[in-house]
Amino acid sequence: MKLHFHGACRTVTGSCFLLETAQGKVLVDCGMVQGSKTERELNYRDFPFRPQEIDALILTHAHIDHSGLIPKLCKGGFDGPIYTIAATADLCSIMLPDSGHIQEMEVEQLNHRNRSKGKETLEPIYTFDDATACLTQFRPVAYHQWITVLPDLKLRFWNAGHLLGSASAEIETTASKAGEKPTRLLFSGDIGTHAKLLEEGAEGPSDIDHLICETTYGGTDRSDMDDDSRRALLLQEITEAKHRKGPLLIPSFAVERTQELLVDIFSLIESGQIPPCPIFIDSPLATRASEIFARHASEIRNGDLLMRAMQEKNVRFTETREQSMAISRIGGFHIIISASGMCEAGRIRHHLKDWLWRPEATVLLVGYQANGSLGRTLLEGTRHVRMMGSEIEVKATIRSMDVYSGHADAPELLEWVKARAPIKGSIFLVHGEAEPQNAFQQTLQKTLHATPVCIPSLDESYDIDGRSATLAQNQTRPRLDPAIAGSKDWNNDFTQLIFELKQAVHHESDEKGRAKLIRKIRQALDSH
Ligand SMILES: [Zn+2]
Repeated sequence: MKLHFHGACRTVTGSCFLLETAQGKVLVDCGMVQGSKTERELNYRDFPFRPQEIDALILTHAHIDHSGLIPKLCKGGFDGPIYTIAATADLCSIMLPDSGHIQEMEVEQLNHRNRSKGKETLEPIYTFDDATACLTQFRPVAYHQWITVLPDLKLRFWNAGHLLGSASAEIETTASKAGEKPTRLLFSGDIGTHAKLLEEGAEGPSDIDHLICETTYGGTDRSDMDDDSRRALLLQEITEAKHRKGPLLIPSFAVERTQELLVDIFSLIESGQIPPCPIFIDSPLATRASEIFARHASEIRNGDLLMRAMQEKNVRFTETREQSMAISRIGGFHIIISASGMCEAGRIRHHLKDWLWRPEATVLLVGYQANGSLGRTLLEGTRHVRMMGSEIEVKATIRSMDVYSGHADAPELLEWVKARAPIKGSIFLVHGEAEPQNAFQQTLQKTLHATPVCIPSLDESYDIDGRSATLAQNQTRPRLDPAIAGSKDWNNDFTQLIFELKQAVHHESDEKGRAKLIRKIRQALDSH
């Protein structure tokens, strides 16, 4: 059997793993790549495998970095079943068409600019219609139920406690030689934290051969966080934002994070710690997702609290673009929760454009910000951003509270891995940037002395033979230089350089000085 790592290698997005057995090919997740422009370009390129050769897809959860390229896969010829938990299928039924819509909008904007510059136009990765079409391939299954995926491969899902419907995928493959035991692999998916407001703790099987484990927070310890301490931090942020007298903008993932924030803000209002204030959930996707959460309220922790929060009279779910634009006319303190969480798309961008340059506004980043994303750029304190064709000087207060993560921290992750013992083969670390991965590799090596722990790079393949996993002989050329994954690319540096050049030119006191500086820059370019 061969295991190919086609995504989430030394980075947190684009999860995609290909398992090749004697009887067929199965993908685990087919996620979109987020982060720097160079990395995102991978989404436009061909898959490193032929979609029509894939027999089935196993989907761990609905987040776009795990599911986002499914419509592209289907459009490319994959017509097999997509096995996933029922709530994940429900969430994908809104998230994938929404993602298709975003692709169409982004490409339309880009093509508008390209046309005006005489450049070639692009096709969207997939459209709303492509995404809607692939929904017929979903086969919802329940936790703990064995499913035969291929004649020599079966699957069972375990609750990963990370998101509504999230799962770890246990895979058992039949031995190719008579008398040998089957091989058991466990793909962690994303593992939730114990402090998760709307999810129960992660579970999983024990006694496996190989573990493919996420490491998003493999280097972080946040064990002191619970509902009360998280709400105390949020209370402080809301109080400070209120003093600035402008809006509190919270870029948030539409699914689960928005509902968690809503429940926490509602709890603070209900307990009288903050006075009632207008709260806008300004994301059509968040509105749809909230409806799905309401439908599954009995399956989640604090489902009753969420139902009450959704019915609170100060909470408004905006639908149309006009309603969204109208929020800009509201003065004074109010709260806007809008997608996307890393500020890369969605309605949050027009709110940021309206407010980033005003000192009374506060932006509160509550989620993971991938390297190279606008959210990370703001978090790192840049005073200048380029968005929607204009340059904006950042005067708003940028705050962050990284306590809403859906991911287990290092001690929780270690506890989860230990509960899977015995792990008789290897552990592969995926879905993490270099620093947390190296930290978690060391932690595991100290704890589980005999188990090899490796960190695969993009498009690397391993031969799995029972308990042994070895780097395959014939490696294909990776689609990206491994050094690029998870880091900033030249686009980020270039934007900064343009900004610095403009500043330098403007700081010259007169026309003569500016002309001299421009001449010098030209000379530097010519001598290059
Ligand atoms: Zn996730």
